[in-house]
Amino acid sequence: MQTVLFHSTVFGPIHSRRLGVSLGINLMPDDGKICSFDCVYCEAGYDSQGQGTAGVSTKEEVKQLLEHKLRTMKSADEHLDVITFSGNGEPTLHPQFREIVHDVLHLRNKYFPEVKVTVLSNSSMLGKSTVVDALKDVDLNILKLDSAIPSTFRLINQPVNESYQPEGVVDRMKQFEGKLIIQTMMLRGDHDGQHFDNTTDEEVDALIAAYKEVNPQEVMIYSIDRPTPEKNIEKITKEELEKIGKRISDAGIKVQVNA
Ligand code: SF4
Repeated sequence: MQTVLFHSTVFGPIHSRRLGVSLGINLMPDDGKICSFDCVYCEAGYDSQGQGTAGVSTKEEVKQLLEHKLRTMKSADEHLDVITFSGNGEPTLHPQFREIVHDVLHLRNKYFPEVKVTVLSNSSMLGKSTVVDALKDVDLNILKLDSAIPSTFRLINQPVNESYQPEGVVDRMKQFEGKLIIQTMMLRGDHDGQHFDNTTDEEVDALIAAYKEVNPQEVMIYSIDRPTPEKNIEKITKEELEKIGKRISDAGIKVQVNA
């Protein structure tokens, strides 16, 4: 069974297709996964692997581990582009998310003031004011929207709480008044006998309408790059991704294509 990728709270730096040299912060357990979604393509595996036994790191632990790493990197004159919240699940679920973001911004200012602080979030916690406040303070607020059609969204992202309403995500994204980047994984495949495909004309039109409503700084579209828990997923080709990117940019939206 595919399991979690990250075995520490501070990991890397790694080279990210989209962000450059990235030092990661995993606020979820080092030996399990906690997420409000259970995406068919999640590189950390399915939620059914369990939450592990290590628990989540405290605010103090994150601060101490990050300060140690940044100090070491600074002394070695290492290059860094971004500090990125991602990892074994959804970072905004951490109960001290806002306080941790503020500690990270403080440490960034102290050691690498030119580096951007980034959060990769699945957008599921945008109903919580402390999460929204924290996301307003980071440099790159990157929020997931894989489909604007509810049935496709449910097939691809599989929200854990069945009462979760993806239909409201576009409205909740508007709270940022354009200070956000929307990321969309493009894919097609089958899961539990059901077919999903967010690359059809209908899907791309619905996404473009949603992007226009939210008016983000940029949209990032990308394709799978690592093994996925659902094996029946087709990787979208560079050519097809570029075609979809052109449709988005022709609609007046800045787009980054990561094949
Ligand atoms: S939202 Fe992210 S961490 Fe959660 S299941 Fe989806 S890809 Fe994995």
